[in-house]
Amino acid sequence: MSTQYVCPNCEYVYDEAKGDPREGWPAGTAFTDIDPDWTCPDCGVREQVDFVPAEEFTHNDQDGNIISAETRARQAQEGQQQ
Ligand SMILES: [Zn+2]
Repeated sequence: MSTQYVCPNCEYVYDEAKGDPREGWPAGTAFTDIDPDWTCPDCGVREQVDFVPAEEFTHNDQDGNIISAETRARQAQEGQQQ
């Protein structure tokens, strides 16, 4: 079972099962195998060490905001409209 990690700044999700080929991480790349200097591809601010496991993130969200599939899809769409 793969783990997802969330950028606490912009809610970018790294899924170990999917990897992020765009960033040079093939599907199946464990989060621990990623370069510690790698920064979030969406906001470019956070570093790998700042990412939090998705489970932990949803449980710790004090504002009650949980990342939904809808939000993710909308962000992806907006990213393509340039
Ligand atoms: Zn980010």
